[in-house]
Amino acid sequence: MDKIHDSVISKKELVLERIKALRKEIGKDLLIFSHFYQGEDIIRFADFVGDSLQLAHVASENKDVPFIVFCSVSFMAEMAKILCSKGQEVLAPAREARCPLAEMADIKDVEEIWKGLYASGGEFIPVVYVNSTAEIKAFCGKNGGTVCTSANAKKVFEWVFDKGKNILFFPDENLGRNTAHSLGIKDEDIKTWDPKEGRGLSDYRKSRVILWKGFCYVHTRFLSTQIERLKRAYDGLKVIVHPECPPEICAMSDLFGSTSFIKKTIEDAPSGSKWAVGTEWNFVKRLGLENPDKTVIPIFESRCNEMAQVTPDRLLGVLEGIVKGELIGRVTVSDEIADRARIALKRMLEIA
Ligand code: SF4
Repeated sequence: MDKIHDSVISKKELVLERIKALRKEIGKDLLIFSHFYQGEDIIRFADFVGDSLQLAHVASENKDVPFIVFCSVSFMAEMAKILCSKGQEVLAPAREARCPLAEMADIKDVEEIWKGLYASGGEFIPVVYVNSTAEIKAFCGKNGGTVCTSANAKKVFEWVFDKGKNILFFPDENLGRNTAHSLGIKDEDIKTWDPKEGRGLSDYRKSRVILWKGFCYVHTRFLSTQIERLKRAYDGLKVIVHPECPPEICAMSDLFGSTSFIKKTIEDAPSGSKWAVGTEWNFVKRLGLENPDKTVIPIFESRCNEMAQVTPDRLLGVLEGIVKGELIGRVTVSDEIADRARIALKRMLEIA
């Protein structure tokens, strides 16, 4: 048993050593991006670690590096491809890792509701969460809309309301509702659109916000009973969650906000403070390791299976490919989609 264990460990170590060596060999021609939800064995090799908004900014600022390896789900790698220059290659170690939330808004359904709203005389601007396909971002670019992340959703919503328009938001219902609530918008001014039901749109045209019925399974696993149990077990415990959590979970938490907001809040918290965190498990685990003077626990160990498809073996495969002149996990987006999606993303980067 021990022998098997030792050989597994040494194989893993060999892979990590090889990544380190290739990383050095490729040198300045390579940047590795990693989302916060990646495991430690990927994060240790990353030049930039961040949430979607931070990584979008970095991708738009590093246009002279030939290879960007993006360790995350496919929509983020596509976003980097859209924002970087034509000659750059974006490579995704798990090209097929698609975020289920992003897949919940289909472009045909989006075009259908848009046509219906327009015909009913509604005055809307489409806003899409960054967790979406390139086609939906392109749709927003073409129709005067923009993109948002959980870090800037409030500013983007304000941008729409300042124009005197209402919002068609997709695909995450919870982020949309939590953001609308934070701006004082009541549930009676918010409607949810379920594309599977496909009813008429006349009731919808006066809504301040229309929300697509989509959700992230990682962030909808947290329950009020779990929070109550932890509050009983830890004296003085504070609860902080991500806005993809349901509104009732955000309402019973002390704070809610983006991944970078959660990170900063815990880093800035007093030594000895206790935190229960409602977001992806890899990130919560790392927060605990980086803040040893505080108690940091998950509300529940909720893992993202799609983020976990990026492994050291696959990262190594991509780097070996670069050295051999092969583009493994190459991300492509058609020029037409990329040009339109870039308009929506650039609008977002100007707003926030
Ligand atoms: S955590 Fe949720 S939103 Fe993020 S990639 Fe995983 S499934 Fe998608």
